[in-house]
Amino acid sequence: MELNAYKCTECGELHHPRHMVCRACGNRDFEEVELNGEGTVLTWTRVFNLPEGYMVPYLCFAIVKFDDTGLVVSGRIDSDDPQIGMRVKSTVAIVKETEIDHYGFIFEPVD
Ligand SMILES: [Zn+2]
Repeated sequence: MELNAYKCTECGELHHPRHMVCRACGNRDFEEVELNGEGTVLTWTRVFNLPEGYMVPYLCFAIVKFDDTGLVVSGRIDSDDPQIGMRVKSTVAIVKETEIDHYGFIFEPVD
């Protein structure tokens, strides 16, 4: 599983997740660009009211800005004590296993 952004073939605007239409110019063609796995936590939250099926009391989610592309994405952060400005590395994993697996970013703190 790879981490991809979607680059507009007309204007070069990067999108994540994939959009049907470029938000900058309206073009509908994109090329995949691999995302570097490291970035910085802009903000985070702890969610207690999880959907049915999660066997944990809470999960933490973060908004992270990637170093190389500047893209801002959301995902789960694998830390009980996240901090704004924390350095993280992302992987893509199955976030929830159901009839249809949902893939998303998982952020792990970097030393
Ligand atoms: Zn565009």
